[in-house]
Amino acid sequence: MAGTLYLVPTPIGNLGDISRRMAETLGAVDFVAAEDTRVSLKLLNHLGLKKPLVSYYRHNTETAGPQVLERLLAGEDCALVTDAGTPAISDPGEDLVRLCAENGVTVVPIPGPCALVSALAASGLPTGRFTFEGFLPMNKKNRRARLAELAGEGRTMLFYEAPHKLTATLADLAETFGGERRIALCRELTKLHEEVVRTTLAGAVELCREKEPRGEYVLVVDGAPAPEESEVTPEDGLERVRALRAGGASLKDACRQAARELGLSRNDLYAAALAADREG
Ligand code: SAM
Repeated sequence: MAGTLYLVPTPIGNLGDISRRMAETLGAVDFVAAEDTRVSLKLLNHLGLKKPLVSYYRHNTETAGPQVLERLLAGEDCALVTDAGTPAISDPGEDLVRLCAENGVTVVPIPGPCALVSALAASGLPTGRFTFEGFLPMNKKNRRARLAELAGEGRTMLFYEAPHKLTATLADLAETFGGERRIALCRELTKLHEEVVRTTLAGAVELCREKEPRGEYVLVVDGAPAPEESEVTPEDGLERVRALRAGGASLKDACRQAARELGLSRNDLYAAALAADREG
């Protein structure tokens, strides 16, 4: 019988976030596939565990993936870990999960630290509907194109960004969405210097000018305001009445229906239609 792939999240800055289930899973599996074996070795040492480690990182997924799969199919259990946070979320893992799914291997996600979830929860922005955009493309043209796609996005948007690119990214965001748009800059979550700054995009650009950004950031940006409903004028009502009458409705019925559809007063519309008839 095939083994199981466990997706084991690791702390994003605070070892206190290691859960009992994470530790038990790491202790129980046959081997660990790690983004950086040196980083994961430290974690295993911290937990007093000794486990065979194999490397599974962004640039070896094509060769390492099938090797991990082979061991899983042979009945071994594997824990996939990355340097910090939840595997497969802007981290290696997506391909391995797909490979397992295609080959009937059970994938068990262990819940745990994930920067985007903590940032969204603390942002103070609407959390009901959101879109996770990961890292924006590095290439300027592709980056602009991606931002243009998001120009009308009404849901809260989350971005990961490296500190040295933050100032440029905020400037691009301000240019696309306007300086007044709200943003929460979520920095160094779970760490000593954890900070959530709630400001506007223009305010965030200014902050970066004043002080060079340091540490890890998640950007949570408010969605675009809903487009304002166009105001219905009495003339719109009359036009609708004319169309309904041309279709055979009586004046009274046309006014009733048009008033209901457009949210106008039936009596006012009726009076206006009579006056229009009189004027010819
Ligand atoms: N898989 C990870 C997760 O579940 O959050 C994300 C890995 S991604 C390669 C790294 C990015 O996550 C960083 O550039 C930063 O945007 C964000 N990040 C990771 N740890 C963070 C922290 N403690 N505070 C704020 N952002 C963090």
